This record gives sequence, structure tokens and C-alpha cells, in this order.
Amino acid sequence: MAYVIDGKKISQEIKDELKEQVEALKKDGKEIALAVIQVGTDPASSVYVGNKKKACAYIGIRSESYELPETVVQEELISLIERLNQDDKINGILVQLPLPEHIDEDAVIKAISPAKDVDGFHPESVGALMIGQQGFLPCTPAGIIQLLKRSDIEIAGKECVVIGRSNIVGKPMAVLLLRENGTVTVTHSKTKDLKAVCKRADILVAAVGKPRMITREYVKDGATVIDVGIHRNAENKLCGDVDYEDVFPIAGAITPVPGGVGPMTIAMLMNNCVSGALH
Ligand code: NDP
Repeated sequence: MAYVIDGKKISQEIKDELKEQVEALKKDGKEIALAVIQVGTDPASSVYVGNKKKACAYIGIRSESYELPETVVQEELISLIERLNQDDKINGILVQLPLPEHIDEDAVIKAISPAKDVDGFHPESVGALMIGQQGFLPCTPAGIIQLLKRSDIEIAGKECVVIGRSNIVGKPMAVLLLRENGTVTVTHSKTKDLKAVCKRADILVAAVGKPRMITREYVKDGATVIDVGIHRNAENKLCGDVDYEDVFPIAGAITPVPGGVGPMTIAMLMNNCVSGALH
């Protein structure tokens, strides 16, 4: 039976540590502020934005909301970002993705100053990550490293298999595991015999975007299984990329959905806001 890695508890610990740091900064007269930009009214995006603002309020970070209509032109969005880049009172800029189709997401991400790129998606942040220089780390993979470290799960020397190679999860996850001295394999839709590759893993990270695809046939006995996926099943309940009930009895440790990776993403965003203000 697996040890359940409690992302809710670990993310709360991180938020409480950050709250203390923010209080200390306030005593020195320094306030931290995050600008949150949402384009349109997609309900899922609104929930994510709401949760991020709630976390800011808890920690003591001031959040400034910019709600732009679905029809906003790209130039207007970019000029808002440029204004926020120049604003000394703003430490971080977050543009909630996805953006409407008429807007070039890459151009918007590139417009954010790397010094305020708290999502860690700017090409400069990605480059810094690759070569091990100081920069903002993308929140979901950085959160997974924290889950492992704070659960005393050794990464160095371990076989780590990442399922998925997206720019926001799979690829940065692989680089961060490598940085921690894991032996890393990245898999994707063209990988041959995925089950056999995954079965080698001491640490298996599933970011495949397919509900409950990862059954025990993909998992070595005693492996740590990190489930990044978020889906709603037929009964409107949340589930992940891992078939939790099937894998739980044989895994060594496992993250649940909800309450695993999800809460860590927001905690690490808050961490980026605070660390950005310190540099
Ligand atoms: P993407 O859809 O961008 O990437 C999915 C990856 O999985 C691709 O690299 C794809 O390969 C690979 N893949 C798809 N099907 C297979 C298959 N049958 N076998 C092997 N590989 C396959 O997803 P994201 O990385 O953005 O997100 C992954 C999941 O994580 C989603 O469920 C998303 O909702 C969730 N998520 C959760 C977050 C959180 O905070 N918990 C944050 C971000 C995402 P290829 O490249 O060849 O197409």
C-alpha cells in the first residue's frame, strides 16, 4: 500500500513559510504585488484566477486584477503588460492561459519582463533553467520537486520517467529531475513500448493528459507515482492521469487527485512572487 503524498498539507506549509517572509518584508516597508491578467470569462480560468488571488490574500501579497474582454486586441494586451513591466510596485505579472485564438500566446509571454515572469514561461526563464542559472522555475514541475523533497524521497541516482513533453510540464520536469541528479527518460506519444519504459521508473511522473491511463501495468512495485493530470470523470468528479485505485496497492508513494500536485502549483507561484521581490 502506497504512502500518500499530501500536496494539500505540503502546499500549506510552503504558504505559511511565505506568509512569515512577507510579514518580515512588510516590517522593512516592502510590499509584494502580483498583477493577474485574465482575458475573457472562461469558467475554468476564472476558478484558477480566483484561487491564485485567494492564495495572495492569505500570504499577504497584494493582487491587482485586470479583466479584459474576450475581444481585446493583442496590441492592447501587450501594452498593458509593458506598462506593468515598468511599474516598480508590481513584482510579478501573470497572464492566465489559454488566451483566445486571435492572440499569439508566444508573443504575449515574450512581452512579460523576465524579471516579473512568475510563471517561468518566458524563453529567457526557460533558457536559464536549461543551463542552471538563476531564474523563475515553472510552477508545476517545481512543485513536484518540493513534494518529493519534503516527503524525503531521494531523487539522486534514481530512474525517473516523465510521461509527456509539453513546455509547461514534461520538459521542465525532466530538466529539474536531472538537476537533482536523477537518471531521466522523457516519453511521449511516439515512444515505443511505453509500459516497459515506465516499469523501469523509481519515480514516474504522469503528465499525459489522458484520464486514468496509467494503470499498474506501467508501474514498478514500490515506485513513487506523481500524477499531474486533472480531469473530470462522467460523475463530474476530479481524477488524474493515473488509475489511482489500481496503482495504490503496488506503489511505494503516490499523489492523489485532487490534493496532490494541483495545490503545489499555486504554492510555487506564490514562492516565485516572493523570491522575485527579494532579488
Ligand atoms: P499536453 O497535452 O500539452 O501534453 C501531453 C503530453 O503527453 C504530450 O507530450 C504527448 O505526446 C503525451 N502523450 C499523449 N498521449 C500519449 C500516449 N498515449 N502515450 C504517451 N504519451 C502521450 O499536456 P500538459 O503537459 O499541458 O498537461 C498534462 C496534464 O497535466 C493535463 O491533464 C493537464 O490538465 C494537467 N496539468 C495539471 C497541472 C496542475 O497544476 N496539476 C498544471 C498543468 C497541467 P506528444 O508530445 O508526442 O504529443
